[in-house]
Amino acid sequence: MSAPEVSFSRSIPVRHEVDVFIAGGGPAGTAAAYGAAKAGASVFLAEGEICFGGVGTAGGINMLCVFSDRENFVADGFGREIYERLHKRGFASRSTPYGWRDVHFAPENLKLIYDELMDEAGVKYTFNTHVIGLECEGGWVKHVICYGKSGIFAVKAKAYVDATGDGDLCTWAGGEMVVGDAEGNRQPGTFVSFWSGIDWDKAEASGNGVWKQEGKLKQAIADGVFTQHDYGMPGILPYGKLSGAGNIGHLFGVDGTDERSLTENAVLGRKIAREYGEYFRKYLTGYEQMELVGMGSRVGIRETRRAMGDYVLNVDDYWNKAVFDDEIGRYCYGIDIHATSLTPKKKKEKEVSFGESWLKDGESYGIPYRCLTPKNLHNLFSSGRCVSVDREVLGSIRVMPGCYITGQASGTAAAMVAEKDVDMRSIDVKELQGNLKKIGAYLPNM
Ligand SMILES: Cc1cc2nc3c(=O)[nH]c(=O)nc-3n(C[C@H](O)[C@H](O)[C@H](O)COP(=O)(O)OP(=O)(O)OC[C@H]3O[C@@H](n4cnc5c(N)ncnc54)[C@H](O)[C@@H]3O)c2cc1C
Repeated sequence: MSAPEVSFSRSIPVRHEVDVFIAGGGPAGTAAAYGAAKAGASVFLAEGEICFGGVGTAGGINMLCVFSDRENFVADGFGREIYERLHKRGFASRSTPYGWRDVHFAPENLKLIYDELMDEAGVKYTFNTHVIGLECEGGWVKHVICYGKSGIFAVKAKAYVDATGDGDLCTWAGGEMVVGDAEGNRQPGTFVSFWSGIDWDKAEASGNGVWKQEGKLKQAIADGVFTQHDYGMPGILPYGKLSGAGNIGHLFGVDGTDERSLTENAVLGRKIAREYGEYFRKYLTGYEQMELVGMGSRVGIRETRRAMGDYVLNVDDYWNKAVFDDEIGRYCYGIDIHATSLTPKKKKEKEVSFGESWLKDGESYGIPYRCLTPKNLHNLFSSGRCVSVDREVLGSIRVMPGCYITGQASGTAAAMVAEKDVDMRSIDVKELQGNLKKIGAYLPNM
């Protein structure tokens, strides 16, 4: 039986009228706001959390994956701003010369940098502001509806960017959305935990340092330490001398687009974080004094919806290091797909592991503009984790520097759509590429 329904209607104020509206202030949303503001647009951004940064700050993840293909700084533009500011301020606790692999940071420090960048760019924004709906006519978004503590209000813009990670706006506007693999299975989430009292030098010397903490995991599972027998563990990553953020404990089957599922999994995640604490303290060297000091303010979600666009970037493009006339950037992170369940299926023919999936030094794949333009919609861009890619390419492009690339392009393009008052497909892509180059984007083929 379907649930009873009520109708709900109110007259609400249009609180902001701007060129570009951005839903969500994670890596993609901040990059989009930066791109749009640098292109001269007035911008309003609504962010549900109390900070910018999405999974990388509120979600507690403290490592920015690769900025470079080991020869070229591919996440250039907004990504370089982040990378250089983290280093200049002494906030990058570990990194290789070109940020190839691990720029570790304390989430609070990255929040500060996003605040500064948004303020300097003249972006208007409010936190604790949830986008709860939109009005769309014939594929044109007319306005969005937001909720904040002060009440419900509307924002009118000429162009809109969906940077919610989950494709909320594209879904509401009637976009064609795809979830997970062919059966709809998604990558698991992780509720990140914060730990103090870790002796990183001792841990590293013992052989169970940053990337090798699974050493005695099998034994601990056999000893009954864990509720779920999860043999895959990314690990605790350091920030500062004695602390770390735990990317530990997969939440299988979590649906990041359903608060009921998020609630159940937050409860489970809190419980299993303590089990990992027991494992680290009792089984590994350097972690004996480790204490849980907090959890992220949101469950970290790796995969939900992707908005199918005018082109779907696919794994063949990845391996072919594709070049597109309309490319807005290039990227290179390996194909990182976490198992969807505790009993992973056998690998398909031609399926490669994350370790085997890396392109060679100096190699990258192109990202066409058409991945940012959802089918049948006219003034609503996708960006970040919800762009138009297949599941394998999502495994690469979903990391934060990848989201900076698609975010800055969608924001820059949105500014052009707003200025010319046209459909997303009518802007001059060469001009877009020129504008992206002005903010430093890596476009070697243009
Ligand atoms: C456990 C885990 C570990 C990871 N590890 C790494 C790593 O080590 N390095 C790396 O680079 N990447 C990592 N990633 C991937 C990366 O963090 C995310 O894919 C990336 O943050 C996605 O960026 P985004 O801007 O698209 O979305 P998000 O980071 O999810 O940001 C979306 C933002 O939009 C806001 N929002 C959503 N809906 C609404 C709404 N309706 N109204 C208002 N605001 C809304 C959210 O509050 C959020 O701030 C990891 C991800 C997870 C889950």
